[in-house]
Amino acid sequence: MYKRRSKKTNKKAIIFFLVAFAILIPVLIFATLQGISTINTYIPSETSELDDIFDDFDYDKANRENNLNEEQITEGIKTNTTKTNDTNESNNKLANDSATHTIVNSKKYIALTFDDGPLDPTPGILDLFEKEKVVATFFILGKKVTPETGSVLKRMLKMGCELGNHSMNHKDFGALTPDEVKNEVKMAQNAIYEQAGVYPKIFRFPYLRIDKSEGKDIGMPIIGIKRSSKDSNKETTVNDIISNVVDYASNGSIVLMHDKQKTLEALPEIISRLRADGYEFVTVSELFAIKGTTLENGKVYKWANLQ
Ligand SMILES: [Zn+2]
Repeated sequence: MYKRRSKKTNKKAIIFFLVAFAILIPVLIFATLQGISTINTYIPSETSELDDIFDDFDYDKANRENNLNEEQITEGIKTNTTKTNDTNESNNKLANDSATHTIVNSKKYIALTFDDGPLDPTPGILDLFEKEKVVATFFILGKKVTPETGSVLKRMLKMGCELGNHSMNHKDFGALTPDEVKNEVKMAQNAIYEQAGVYPKIFRFPYLRIDKSEGKDIGMPIIGIKRSSKDSNKETTVNDIISNVVDYASNGSIVLMHDKQKTLEALPEIISRLRADGYEFVTVSELFAIKGTTLENGKVYKWANLQ
């Protein structure tokens, strides 16, 4: 009796493992192929056009990491209404948000972010934002800051937009020494301060290359993205940009865009459709103020989950 029961049990166990393997193996193969398809040709380039393409490439990597790093973002919406600049009143030298922007937590919020500028289309983007009363965050490239573009930065601040640091020269930070990393951040801080009179308080890696070991040398909170408009891909059309942003919008999302002409052309439709869907446009710092999260230096924040 004992032996027979044991054989039956063994048989059941074998069948169970066979079924489990039959399910597991295709899943593992799929997961491996997915991994291989995204860990591919990361070749940073000096040209700004390719830089932009790699920004979008790394979006996929960053987006996969979103699921792994959510614990870095504290849960909970604390209050019904919050003044957006309450954390920074003590330091008027920090690049700050609109003092008049009142936040109501029953709404949906989205933070549009623009990397690599200021560039030629930037004033047009600001004209539109001024007309539509939209605020956004501009991750400024230090080497683009000159006495001529300084007025554009000042205008951004006056409109309630936020300035972020996107490094001095858009280098691959993975190839830099800790001192070079610190220098890239510091040079951009100083260039922006010289023209705009404020120091950015958030940083975004060139190529969205997020690496925790590099974070400690940045000395600022690091902002990733939830969604890319893919506006730096040559083949992306105005309509693609609109749908890449609008169709994937979510409450608390941080969206990657660039100061490009076709992005400017896509923005009126993006603004009107997101507004119709109940979204309010906020800066990155406003978004985390709504979330009730105090951003910490060296940590990576990819979006504020407000669902
Ligand atoms: Zn960039």
